Amino acid sequence: MKTVSSPQEMKNLSFTLQKSGSTIGLVPTMGALHKGHLSLLSLASQQTDVKVMSIFVNPTQFAPGEDLEKYPRTLEDDIRRAENAGCDILFVPSVSDMYPVNYSTFVDVENIGQRLCGASRPGHFRGVATVVLKFFNIVNPQVAVFGQKDAQQVIVLKRMVHDLNLSVHIETGPIIRENDGLALSSRNVYLTNSERREASLIYKGLIKAQAAFHSGTVDTSQLRSLILELYEGALYLTPEYIEIVDTLTLEPLERILDTALVAVACRTKQSDTRLIDNIILGGKL
Ligand code: AMP
Repeated sequence: MKTVSSPQEMKNLSFTLQKSGSTIGLVPTMGALHKGHLSLLSLASQQTDVKVMSIFVNPTQFAPGEDLEKYPRTLEDDIRRAENAGCDILFVPSVSDMYPVNYSTFVDVENIGQRLCGASRPGHFRGVATVVLKFFNIVNPQVAVFGQKDAQQVIVLKRMVHDLNLSVHIETGPIIRENDGLALSSRNVYLTNSERREASLIYKGLIKAQAAFHSGTVDTSQLRSLILELYEGALYLTPEYIEIVDTLTLEPLERILDTALVAVACRTKQSDTRLIDNIILGGKL
């Protein structure tokens, strides 16, 4: 595996690879790699010749007061994990290379970027869309793979690709979970033992809604109540939102007639960790 930190060197490398006929798959991450991240590399390898993973804790997607400084950074372990998982090129740019002095250009995906997580994380999706577009321009991948874990991110990025006539194909990987159902996340290391034990409730709520949907409940307020009921019994978690929305527009749905995204965000009470999870009912992303 080759490690590259200069965006210009990464650009030259991609250009050379593509000139020789190779296709490139990109997996953007913020590092602290776990099995969820690594599963996206195997998806990329099914569709492309060369797998590029980026590791960049992107400052522009953190709102003031969020965990930018304390976000886990484990580069040495990440290099080992990425290499063992078959990554060909690890791209690890610096903040000053990505956002040099006088940097002024941002991509704003309106409306859908302000809903769900965007409501409590102002500027988050503007930062995500901007950095991902930069990665697309630097790496020039045919395929970019993202996790369904961040479903709104996938929806925002697909909208950006469509609206800006980009050529990259966005692929979505399934959510990889712990044995008790908690979605793997780099932020799970923040959880206290009590929070960690209770965090499996988040997925249990989603499964409860899924079971009711499969037994014929399509009324979203009923499905929402089932989830809320479970979360209200929690000692260490507070729900931030429980939303059942259209998978293209993120508009709330009254009834599920086609495909719906059931997305939840919870905050933990001891370590103030924000955990998100989701399921898709009646189809896929
Ligand atoms: P992050 O490093 O948290 O920005 O995540 C980088 C990529 O990995 C994003 O596309 C995430 O959606 C994806 N990802 C994070 N957690 C998981 C998971 N548990 N299962 C699958 N993909 C994940």
